Amino acid sequence: MKRLIILRYSEIHLKGDNRGFFERCLFDNTVNAIKDINAIVDKGGARYIIKDYDIVDEKKLISRLTKVFGFNWLSVAICVENDINKIIDAVQEFQFNNCTFRVSTRRADKNFPLHSNEVSAKIGEFILKTYSNCIVNLENFDKELVIDIRENGYTYMYLDSIKCAGGMPTGSAGKALCLLSGGIDSPVATYKIAKRGAKIFGLHFHSYPYTSERAKQKVIDLAKVIAQYNGEFKLYFVNFTKVQETIHKNCNPKFMITLMRRIMMRIAEKLAHKLNCKAIVTGESLGQVASQTMEGIISSNSVVSMPIYRPLIGDDKNEIIDVAKKIGTFDISILPYEDCCTVFLPRNPIIKPKLDSVILEEKKINVDELVEECLNNIEFIKIS
Ligand code: ATP
Ligand code: MG
Repeated sequence: MKRLIILRYSEIHLKGDNRGFFERCLFDNTVNAIKDINAIVDKGGARYIIKDYDIVDEKKLISRLTKVFGFNWLSVAICVENDINKIIDAVQEFQFNNCTFRVSTRRADKNFPLHSNEVSAKIGEFILKTYSNCIVNLENFDKELVIDIRENGYTYMYLDSIKCAGGMPTGSAGKALCLLSGGIDSPVATYKIAKRGAKIFGLHFHSYPYTSERAKQKVIDLAKVIAQYNGEFKLYFVNFTKVQETIHKNCNPKFMITLMRRIMMRIAEKLAHKLNCKAIVTGESLGQVASQTMEGIISSNSVVSMPIYRPLIGDDKNEIIDVAKKIGTFDISILPYEDCCTVFLPRNPIIKPKLDSVILEEKKINVDELVEECLNNIEFIKIS
């Protein structure tokens, strides 16, 4: 009796002629997610099968596979030959105790001598006889035993399904550059865009030596959590110290954050073009802080022509925190290391900056030179 893992994909079944492209992408990502574990990945229609693995690796496989974007559900199944006696024997592999249950049979193998209803009835009868404290309830059941009699000569039997990450396969939706701070929001924004199939790159601004090595490590640790879902990606680092010092020395402190954001966006757009990205991603949420007002967003948008995706724009902080906890970034995000934006934080930042006054203020510094210098000193590491 063999065990295998059955994965079912999510939205891909809605695709038409291009479904093959998404399926291949998902297949490659699945193989890649478990490449260091001995197992075979097989595909049959809307399901992918992981087989021929060592049972000691099963938990590790499940943990990896539930994070592959594109799958909705996963089940661990017992696999037997298409033979009613073998199917009955295999029922004992499942725990039935003091519960309501139903049996659902699918019979793709039309040569199988019993109809699906007959199989369900026979197996149900066996369960009732063997586990006397169990009751059949077709509508309101604690457990559903699925029996899937396949054309390939094998029957897959499983009880429970585990929810997977959903979304679309990584790499199926083009490339995006994600502005990743060490906060709670931007890792969630990055996750959400990766979940929709974007191949992502990360960009972090630091103010070394005002910000520490530990603050940089925090961003790397956050990126590693995200990489569990979407695979390896490149994280770029820009030293932003000179930009901040120059604004601090020459401009009205009220405009500090507004001007910083505009320079960050210009750097991001130039890097994004080099990487063939089609969008910049931020963790902004409308009205959350002074720089995230509609006026603040107009000011940042006006220096770039590339689209800026803000997947959290309509989310409350609590909703963002819930996702951060679910994906595993929250505990890292709340570590108390400083971010470059907090280093020169003005006491009274401008809340609704008028574009005219921002542009006037910005004329006091040489923006192009600062942007060029940052881009010339950019560094990156591979996150996996
Ligand atoms: P976060 O929790 O993502 O840091 P926040 O609520 O602290 O967000 P801001 O500090 O105003 O908000 O930042 C808004 C967005 O700008 C961030 O979500 C992120 O995308 C980007 N950003 C801010 N600081 C940095 C940084 N040091 N490096 C890269 N991107 C940054
Ligand atoms: Mg922040």
